[in-house]
Amino acid sequence: MVTGGPPRGTSGAAGGSGVGGAAPSDRQDPEAPGRREPSAPESVLLHACCAPCSVYVLKALFASFPGTTVLLWYFNPNIHPGAEYRRRRDALAYLHARRDEFLPEGSDLRLDVSAPYRPDEFLAAAAADPRRPGRCSACYRLRMAAAARKAREAGAEAFSSTLLYSRKQGHEAVRAAGEAAAEEDGGPPFLYRDFREGWKEGREIAGRLDVFRQNYCGCLYGELDN
Ligand code: SF4
Repeated sequence: MVTGGPPRGTSGAAGGSGVGGAAPSDRQDPEAPGRREPSAPESVLLHACCAPCSVYVLKALFASFPGTTVLLWYFNPNIHPGAEYRRRRDALAYLHARRDEFLPEGSDLRLDVSAPYRPDEFLAAAAADPRRPGRCSACYRLRMAAAARKAREAGAEAFSSTLLYSRKQGHEAVRAAGEAAAEEDGGPPFLYRDFREGWKEGREIAGRLDVFRQNYCGCLYGELDN
């Protein structure tokens, strides 16, 4: 399920974007070698771990790339139990419905929560080393590989993750997983930013909007760690 549509207050200029539209244009920086991030991507796939971590990242993306289309994609087989998975998914839909209250007018934000819930994929990935930081690196690799694939299939010009916002995640491991996934998939590049700079602002906005905030990272192991 993808919800959103053309930018509000515009004539639907995002229709030319790769996300949910035509094939992406080649807007790579001509100075940049290989598949480095485009200077002004028309479309970005943003892997979303949860709603509160999405707030500042979305603000930053639309500030950096006015007119871009962002496809917010919920893919988190690590989350346990299923009720928590659905609660975080529904919180993302709630945030999407209130996007006018924290994003610039006309921001083209679309939401896709259609990925099937497959916790067995996470358990298989984490089984080799179920302790931190091994299981977390496996968790990042699993999600970033899926995000790279999804970005390519959606025709996005870059992809990123809200995991780069959290101070509680292994920031460099997330970055490494995203960059490796982009390389291995051969699709669009990983867009790296240190979104932790907006930690305070993101939390304040999420609080004002009364967005559900979880109290553990996501997996059963993480819940036991608390
Ligand atoms: S603690 Fe968080 S990042 Fe680490 S494996 Fe569990 S859900 Fe993934």
